[in-house]
Formats: sequence, C-alpha cells, structure tokens
Amino acid sequence: MKIRAVTAIPFVLPYLHPFHMASGTVTEAAHVLISIETDDGLVGVAEAMSRSMIYGESQASIVEAVRAWFAPALVGLDPFATESAQRVLRAVVANETAKGAIDIALHDLRGKAVGQPTWRLLGAAAPSLRVTRMLGMGEPAEVVASAVEANQTYGIDSFKVKIDADMSAALVLLEALRGQFGPDALLYADANQSLSAEAAVAGLGRLAELGVELLEEPVPATDFVGRARIAAAGGIAIMADESARTVEKAALQLTAGSARALSIKPAGSGFTEAARIVGLARGLHSRTLIGSQGDSAIGTITSTTFGAAFESTAGEPAELDYYLGLKDQIVTTAPVISGGRISVDPSIPGNGVVIDDDKLAHYRADV
Ligand SMILES: [Mg+2]
Repeated sequence: MKIRAVTAIPFVLPYLHPFHMASGTVTEAAHVLISIETDDGLVGVAEAMSRSMIYGESQASIVEAVRAWFAPALVGLDPFATESAQRVLRAVVANETAKGAIDIALHDLRGKAVGQPTWRLLGAAAPSLRVTRMLGMGEPAEVVASAVEANQTYGIDSFKVKIDADMSAALVLLEALRGQFGPDALLYADANQSLSAEAAVAGLGRLAELGVELLEEPVPATDFVGRARIAAAGGIAIMADESARTVEKAALQLTAGSARALSIKPAGSGFTEAARIVGLARGLHSRTLIGSQGDSAIGTITSTTFGAAFESTAGEPAELDYYLGLKDQIVTTAPVISGGRISVDPSIPGNGVVIDDDKLAHYRADV
C-alpha cells in the first residue's frame, strides 16, 4: 500500500456567536480538510485549523504547504511507515496544524486499512471523556448563564475560564461559577499569557480557595523567570499550553518544575507527537488534559479518539464542546454530548470521522 495523493480543501463554517479571548476574537472557523489517499482507494482525513494568533497559519498557507512541500514528499510512502512520515514533516519548520492534520489523517488511514478504530489501536482506555466547556470572556452574569445552559443541556459541570490581563475580573467570575455549581464542579483558568507574574502570584491564594484546579499559561511563554516564581509560590498547579507544544519544550517545562500539567492539542501536534508528550508527562507524574483548538466536529471526533485512548488523558476533563458554537458541520454525524461526556464510536474504523460530501461542497472555500 502506498500513498497516492495528499489534498487540502479549505472550508469555512460560521460561528453562532463570536468567541472572545485574550489573544483575539474569532467569528468563523476557516479550516482545511486534509485527505490522504492510497493506491488501493482508502482515504484518511483530518482537520487543520487556521488560527493566526496561535499558529501563524492561514488557510492559504496550509493549502500551499501541503501542495508544495508535504504532498510531493509523502506520495509513494507506505502509510504505516510512521517514522518516514515524521521525517517528511520535520523537514519543514513551523506549519504545525498542517503537519498535525497530516499525522492524524495517516492514523485514520491506518485504522481503515486494518478495519479497526484508531481509539482501539492507541490504547482504548475509556469509552468516553468528561467534557469541559470553555467560557469566553464577558459580563459575569452572561458567562454564568451560558455555563448554566451548558449544564442543563449537556450535563457539563467542568468549566475553563479565560482570563484577559485582569485577575480580579476572573476571580469575580470564578466565585460566581463556584457559587452557582457548588464544590463538585471542576474549574480551571487560562490566561493565554496575559498576566504579569506579580498579578498571577497575587491571585493564587484566592484561586486555591475557590478550588480552581489549574492555572494555564499565566505569563508570556518566554517569561521563564516569572513562571518559575508563580510555580514556586505554589497553591495551584501551572498548566503549560503554548509553551509546551513539542515533546522537547514539554520536557523543559516539566523538568524545570514550572508546569505540573500540560494541555494536549492533537490538532497542533498530531497524534504521534501528542502520544510522546503524554508518555513524557506520565513519567514525570504530571497531568495531561485535552485542549481545544477551535475544532469543528472533525477535530472534536479525532481529539476524542486520542484522549479516550490513553489512561492519563481519559481520566481528565477535555475541552471538546467548542464545535457546538458552529452553525453547521461537514461530517455525517456530529458527536453528541450527554451527561457531561462525549463518546467514541468504536464501530467506525479509523478516527471516527465520516465526511458529508454535500456539506463539504457547500462550505468549501476554493470554488
Ligand atoms: Mg490555552
């Protein structure tokens, strides 16, 4: 079996409402569907996200990177030759979501080739994951109302709050959420690198009192000294996200003691690198949580596949309801969140994504 073609199709899915965070506001999902086809007609698919403020990739850059660099180097390879594919991806710097999607599409292909769900091939730790609702910034009453809606509609009782350079506003919101949902709700916070070390340290005590489990990327990823100060002040574990995208960077954060948890983003790292990071964290007794990349249903299904496969991610909450904020999807069956959990469908070989060709034709952005 050989890879015959690698294609990239841009598509745009509108949001129901704009999403605000410290790094910017997004109003539509401008993503790319990566397809890898073999000479015997199997097709593996995955989704690459264009998020300029996070990855510096555009739809056009993802499409061009695949066309000019990745497709020519991948065609002719055995889709099971993981190390050869990794060599092709490493030969190009940056372009993380394009590379991540190629790796995830190759996993899809391998599962389809052997007629098994990727979830099972990777470890099959649990059939479902607890879902975290990521709460955008806004008036506390409105944000709490959206959390209540998520709880009533989907049973979600795990929430991540976005902090935008204003720790006191975040504390007001977290207090309101704790008051609304009581001690059993899981709360954590993501500052997206927007705080000073001083502000973060000043807020640690109150965050701990409120039972906030984790503080994600409090300071700029390059502020090593500031992050070390926050970690040394203690009280709440620091979670690395932007600062730990590769296994090498994750190793630096975890062994320096400046993070005790990692946000795993399969869309940005691919399954192969994400599995390495999960293994590293496990060896260093650190937590790993599946994070959101603004995935549509495609990325949600693939992140569920990955997260539920490994024990250390399956036992943690996962940010997998973001797709609910999109007006439509290009899969035949979107995931269902029920009782606060999202499930793997083990009846589908590969990663579990089935593309709806009519929807893709409607939302594709290259015609
Ligand atoms: Mg984050």
